[in-house]
Amino acid sequence: DLKRMKDFEIDEEHLYAVVGPGIIYSQLQEEAMRRGMYIVIGGGGAQVSAIANMIGDGWSPLSYRIGLPHRRILGTELVLPDGELVQMGSLALHDDPFWGEGLGPDLRGLLRGFTGLRGCLGIVTKMAIKLMPFQPERLEPTGISPNTTLQLPTNRIKWINFTMPSKDSMKEAMYEMAKAEIGAGVTKVPIFWRAIAKARSKEEFWELWSKESEETISNFHVLRVLLIGFASEEQLEYEEQVLMDIIKELGGEARRTRPSDESWIK
Ligand SMILES: Cc1cc2nc3c(=O)[nH]c(=O)nc-3n(C[C@H](O)[C@H](O)[C@H](O)COP(=O)(O)OP(=O)(O)OC[C@H]3O[C@@H](n4cnc5c(N)ncnc54)[C@H](O)[C@@H]3O)c2cc1C
Repeated sequence: DLKRMKDFEIDEEHLYAVVGPGIIYSQLQEEAMRRGMYIVIGGGGAQVSAIANMIGDGWSPLSYRIGLPHRRILGTELVLPDGELVQMGSLALHDDPFWGEGLGPDLRGLLRGFTGLRGCLGIVTKMAIKLMPFQPERLEPTGISPNTTLQLPTNRIKWINFTMPSKDSMKEAMYEMAKAEIGAGVTKVPIFWRAIAKARSKEEFWELWSKESEETISNFHVLRVLLIGFASEEQLEYEEQVLMDIIKELGGEARRTRPSDESWIK
């Protein structure tokens, strides 16, 4: 059991954390956010070991903007089955995990191993993970458990849903957003999300969902975009203007969208 291996260190100047396998994402996120930084948490949840998640997954809706998870692994210490200690990235040179690739061949493939996922060829005892700068305001929790959420500052974080005229226009909007380098996350909204949002029980979900037909499913073109002013309020304003121009040109329309939704910002 690796739970007691709780090495934990944050380098605020160079934006990375060094963690042991016993550190879970929520602990890491709390400390990062206190310092105006952010760790991208895989869609699996904040209650898992950061190392266990990073060795095989690390995917989040924010990967659209922030990139491939394994690129955020800056240094790894791995014990092989024969007891040999391997240090990857610039950790192989000295105690400074600033560079994930390091000298020579990039060995991060060992973390995925034969299976490509959860096939790690050793035990990871330490990992340096890149942190991102984040909007500086404290995120306020609201609601009563289990229905809690974070009140997000709308001058820095904004969701907008758009109704698009067709699947192609939705695809085109995604291409144009990527070319303009805007948006923190973007996804097609599947119609069953609507049933999930409305239903208060499993039975109600199935009742709502069974009303949909092949036609309603294939004609539902809703695009969900998350904007974050990572660096400033002006960044969010700029990205919103560019986004609105793209959507207008493609014949889309903004829908009423709930401004606070913690599910993509864990
Ligand atoms: C419904 C669902 C949705 C998910 N969606 C996403 C998603 O969108 N994005 C995403 O990134 N992930 C996703 N996941 C994956 C999930 O996040 C991972 O399964 C989780 O991170 C594992 O964490 P854990 O602490 O439970 O690890 P464990 O289950 O304990 O470990 C996971 C694997 O890593 C190995 N391992 C653990 N620690 C070490 C170590 N120190 N050294 C070497 N090997 C080790 C274990 O042997 C095991 O094979 C999803 C999972 C589920 C069930």
